Amino acid sequence: MNLHEYQGKEILNSFGVRIQRGIVADNSKKAVEAAKQLTAETGTGWHVIKAQVHAGGRGKGGGVKLAKSLEEVESISKEIIGMMLITPQTSAEGKKVNQVLICEDVYYPGESEHEEFYMSVLLNRATGRNMIMYSTEGGMDIETVAENTPHLIFTEEIDPATGLLGFQARKIAFNLGLSGNAFKEMTKFVASLYTAYVESDSSMFEINPVLKTSDNKIIAVDAKVSIDDNALYRHKDYAAMRDFREENAIEVEANAVGLNYVDLDGNVGCMVNGAGLAMATMDLIKQSGGEPANFLDVGGTADAERVEAGFRIILKDPNVKAILVNIFGGIVRCDRVAQGVVDAYTNMGNIEVPIIVRLQGTNAKEAQELIQKSGLDVISVTEFQEAADRVKEVLA
Ligand code: GDP
Ligand code: MN
Repeated sequence: MNLHEYQGKEILNSFGVRIQRGIVADNSKKAVEAAKQLTAETGTGWHVIKAQVHAGGRGKGGGVKLAKSLEEVESISKEIIGMMLITPQTSAEGKKVNQVLICEDVYYPGESEHEEFYMSVLLNRATGRNMIMYSTEGGMDIETVAENTPHLIFTEEIDPATGLLGFQARKIAFNLGLSGNAFKEMTKFVASLYTAYVESDSSMFEINPVLKTSDNKIIAVDAKVSIDDNALYRHKDYAAMRDFREENAIEVEANAVGLNYVDLDGNVGCMVNGAGLAMATMDLIKQSGGEPANFLDVGGTADAERVEAGFRIILKDPNVKAILVNIFGGIVRCDRVAQGVVDAYTNMGNIEVPIIVRLQGTNAKEAQELIQKSGLDVISVTEFQEAADRVKEVLA
């Protein structure tokens, strides 16, 4: 689950990571109040207005702006709230901005002593260990740094048995070219950041930039935080931070009824039991000249109710020109799935796209008879290749 910058910063702050202070606002009046409050608390003269959307590169798209007066806080907030923000990480139409984060200005006007670093914490899947990735080249996208100056990206792997060790935090501060107070501040920053990552059950932290201020404080200016969905049950407070407006509407609905659904760009809807079979089915659709419109794993209990829920979800996508149901009956009996297809089809009444059903495994024969007897416009097959061929036919 992805979080907004302000939510990520809230979590970091709760673990003692120093952050750029900010207050979230959903209209320009509240933005001005937030700015006044920040000035009272931090003494900041200028403010930074930051669009809160689940996409990076906001600065480039005009979603991060400096305001030098309360009038500017108001006018910039007015401009950003409600806009469709287009960044290198959004679609062409952009993302709607519902909120802005009003932040203290931490770049201290008139001074150029600050430095921007890059830092992320993530899992290295090859070694099965968490690692801290960092660079002296902060503030720009890390992909560009990786392409042009890969030697400026460092990684530090953490042994799960010992956790982050003191010398590792010092090595990071050293490699970032720090000394004196900034060095000490960085070792503290890294240690608390790593604790926050582990304790919050996150799957990714990306802090870009980490700022060294002119007075040698180390501050998280940005925060991209992803929490592991499978750990949300033990973080009810984080789970409550979910912003459904940022997510694909069909995926949200599918998740609510317990279906594993991922929206894709193609024209053939798939309903499959088991993730492996779902992947194989998507390959097959591609080979037969179609493009999968989705990944959908209905799971082990492919009963009438779930099959119907699956059809309803798939048919919300207007690009779907055919549906391929590919179920392997192991524990679930094919005739029950077939009954599910027939019931769902009858209940829904107005399915206009052709449906190809391939049922294989326990009671496959009974299942095929059941579908044929129903008289419904459903193509029933038992072989995988046959299913692909029929998909090709109906798309032609
Ligand atoms: P992103 O573009 O979505 O990654 O958003 P960031 O939160 O990283 O902000 C983009 C850029 O805005 C940063 O790289 C900074 O250069 C600038 N910025 C952020 N905070 C401040 C601030 O307090 N003062 C000034 N002057 N610039 C800031
Ligand atoms: Mn950033």
